[in-house]
Amino acid sequence: MTEIRLKQVRKSYGTVEVIHGIDLEIGAGEFCVFVGPSGCGKSTLLRIIAGLEDITSGAIEIDGEVVNHVTASDRGLAMVFQSYALYPHMTVYKNMAFGLENSKMPKPEIQARVQKAAEMLQITEYLGRRPKALSGGQRQRVAIGRAIVRNPKAFLFDEPLSNLDAELRVTMRKELAGLHADIGGTMIYVTHDQVEAMTLADKIVVLQEGRLEQMGKPLDLYNTPQNVFVAGFIGSPRMNLVVATVGEGSDGLSLNAGETAIGIPAVDGLRAGDTCTFGMRPEHIRIADANNADIVVKVAFAEQLGGETYLYCDAPGLPQITVHQPGQLPVSKGQDLHLSFDRAQMHLFDAAGKVVTNGIAG
Ligand code: ADP
Ligand code: MG
Repeated sequence: MTEIRLKQVRKSYGTVEVIHGIDLEIGAGEFCVFVGPSGCGKSTLLRIIAGLEDITSGAIEIDGEVVNHVTASDRGLAMVFQSYALYPHMTVYKNMAFGLENSKMPKPEIQARVQKAAEMLQITEYLGRRPKALSGGQRQRVAIGRAIVRNPKAFLFDEPLSNLDAELRVTMRKELAGLHADIGGTMIYVTHDQVEAMTLADKIVVLQEGRLEQMGKPLDLYNTPQNVFVAGFIGSPRMNLVVATVGEGSDGLSLNAGETAIGIPAVDGLRAGDTCTFGMRPEHIRIADANNADIVVKVAFAEQLGGETYLYCDAPGLPQITVHQPGQLPVSKGQDLHLSFDRAQMHLFDAAGKVVTNGIAG
């Protein structure tokens, strides 16, 4: 199995640098997801690894060997695109076999590989069809099959599910996870969808504007974001983030925003007068009594889904606050509500957006 490493990789188009020095290690057999907003450099980074783009400086290593000057076809990686990129005039079988035939592999070996991949992807009955006679999901399977038959050192996926409808995306997501478990190969997967990232990844790499913001296991990113960007990006619905001024409080500090002042114990790294951002995940906000509330809000909108409830709440001078509670709550639009914030689950970031603490002690 294959290990991939990037060392201080930079990439410019003309005079514009779009990848600003990325260090990254993808372990053998790891499912690594690059995630970030549109234009942050995910595809560029993937194409750099594939050998479809050269780099301005730095190094790319595959299994310890620098491959900067190795061509895409000699890197032994297989890429699957959002657009499928199938040959319309060829059958499914031919689409999958074509690359192997070009490499002069013996026919029985090609047949065996295509059959095996087709079974794995449940497309055996479509092998004789042309792509236009397939659904979007089936076409994407063929594109994945074409990668599998090559027995690549690693699979590179660029938003492979983006063209599929929501329901099919969920199905294909599970199948991809199953595929990784079956094949066990190294996979790099690009998406702007943080739910895909959370559910598929062994390791998530969060990118923003050509910089690596944080990488780690999905729940580590969720629980201990290192900056405001990652805090706001990972999690759906997103973390409530409120910019506040720090003041003196009765038992330490006070976070002042709008008409709200929230008392917290003293925290290393924050002083009265600082600007900070505090974050609360929707599921960590409780509905409270008037006498132990942190804030009074008005419910702008309530979504009763049966098994769970989402409340969108307004308070003067604050961004809208999302509350997520299991079960059914007797709450409706326009109602005033008292909320309390669990200090142990509160995230604090400094004026530069860097984490001060994930969870306030004591
Ligand atoms: P993502 O895949 O995360 O949406 P991309 O990797 O496609 O982002 O693009 C990253 C940045 O590089 C963007 O600002 C984009 O405009 C720029 N870019 C990508 N390809 C080219 C190119 N061929 N020429 C000039 N700029 C490019
Ligand atoms: Mg892209």
